[in-house]
Amino acid sequence: MDRAPSTSGSSFELFEIGLDRALELIKKSDARTVGIQVPEGLKRIVSAVAKEIEEKTNAEVIVSGDPCYGACDVDLDLCRVAELVIHIGHSEMLEGDPQLDKIVYIEARMRASVDEAVEKATDLLSARRVGVVTTVQHVHKLDDIVEVLKNGGIEAVIRTGGKRTTYPGQILGCNYEAARNMDVEEYLFVGTGQFHPLGVALATRKKVVAADPVTGNVSIMDTAPMLKRRYGAIARAMDAERIAVLASKKPGQKRMDLARKMAALGEEHGKKMLLIYLDRVEPEVLINLGVDAAVCTACPRIALDDQAKYSVPILTPPEFEILLGLRKEDYLLDEIE
Ligand code: SF4
Repeated sequence: MDRAPSTSGSSFELFEIGLDRALELIKKSDARTVGIQVPEGLKRIVSAVAKEIEEKTNAEVIVSGDPCYGACDVDLDLCRVAELVIHIGHSEMLEGDPQLDKIVYIEARMRASVDEAVEKATDLLSARRVGVVTTVQHVHKLDDIVEVLKNGGIEAVIRTGGKRTTYPGQILGCNYEAARNMDVEEYLFVGTGQFHPLGVALATRKKVVAADPVTGNVSIMDTAPMLKRRYGAIARAMDAERIAVLASKKPGQKRMDLARKMAALGEEHGKKMLLIYLDRVEPEVLINLGVDAAVCTACPRIALDDQAKYSVPILTPPEFEILLGLRKEDYLLDEIE
């Protein structure tokens, strides 16, 4: 979502955003103060969304200026200030905190047709039965995907994921449940970017073909470069003496028990461990702490996707177990249940 869509009422060039439902709920609840939270890729449309809400409901609108990385990352402070919070771009995930009842999740559905990319992908698929997975931005296109595969003589298998996801076939960068326990030898991922299909390949150890509906590109995932980078990070962390364990304050990334477990394991193996509780993981946090490495129990993408930003190695919890010699089997992808 790195191109900024232009606006036209509640419709956007690249995404369909169901603002009508939000407007209806605001009117029904009679909320006088409405918060809006959007991911970075949609920030440029937020002024148009705010204006539309103000004009159509007369409510005061407050926009969260903090970055938002996923449905895991809701602004609970904004929930305390506003009577209703419109969280745009992700499907519902969290429960438990009473503040979460104020959140209305409005998904951003990508308009791009999937047909051409999926048809191209059938040339790379050898199996006649494949698992199909996608992200929330394309999940409304699953029927189209199934149809195109069927026309190519391929049966699509779609599975419901765990409690972090809303739709069958939906995966997240931290959860590949919808790709597991399928009796298939190959997967088709439909969506943008390489991170999710690489995750499917690492989580299933099966062949994954990625079809990007925006660029039209199709490719077979190769996990070797990613694994090389990850084992490189583990090797660089081997001699680290002072290691930070990062525990997130974000409601859907908080894994305090796991963070404590990692800290205890490190201490048992002679490392000086420092448990850090924080909202945003940023390079300067680690520089200022003067640690030699970090174990990140927050979003797995921080270690796997953003390592280049950091001057010290950032490991996921399973990678830290490899470093300590506690995990001998195959590489295990860090996932949040
Ligand atoms: S933890 Fe990371 S990958 Fe998972 S939903 Fe949040 S931002 Fe996305």
